[in-house]
Amino acid sequence: MVAHPDDETFGCGSLLLHARAAGATTAVCCATRGEAGGTGADLGAVRERELREAAAVLGVDHVDLLGFLDSGMSGPAAPATLVGAPVVDVTASVRAAVDAFGPDVLVTLDASDGHRDHARIRDVTIAVARPASARSACTPHRPPRTTACRRTCGGRSWPTCTCARWT
Ligand SMILES: [Zn+2]
Repeated sequence: MVAHPDDETFGCGSLLLHARAAGATTAVCCATRGEAGGTGADLGAVRERELREAAAVLGVDHVDLLGFLDSGMSGPAAPATLVGAPVVDVTASVRAAVDAFGPDVLVTLDASDGHRDHARIRDVTIAVARPASARSACTPHRPPRTTACRRTCGGRSWPTCTCARWT
């Protein structure tokens, strides 16, 4: 679950490639078309095409776009942007996409670069994933269903995570 085209490649391209090579069915869901990520005519269409081409190279089985507008790095966020849209609307869109695919593992951005769209998609994805994750055990024998586990158990990652909240 990412905010812009290219997030899937920079953020987890190798994971997607290896997961597919191991036989997993993979999907990329992108909240925006990245319209604010540069200049040029119809940048959203260009970046969407790049997303689909990158996904093909990475062996991604499904590509989904949520249809929010790129919020850009700063300034007022228009109502239809990922940051300007009501959180409840973004959450509903992310939940619908997650429910439609039914992932065993859900990966999202950590937003460590400070981009507000990355933070929004991270926060919403973790909120959506948490109920499903609570049904899954996080033990050395089974990896967590989401990257959220690392956040709730103080930074330990599978297989060392023994966070009781995940059992
Ligand atoms: Zn991005």
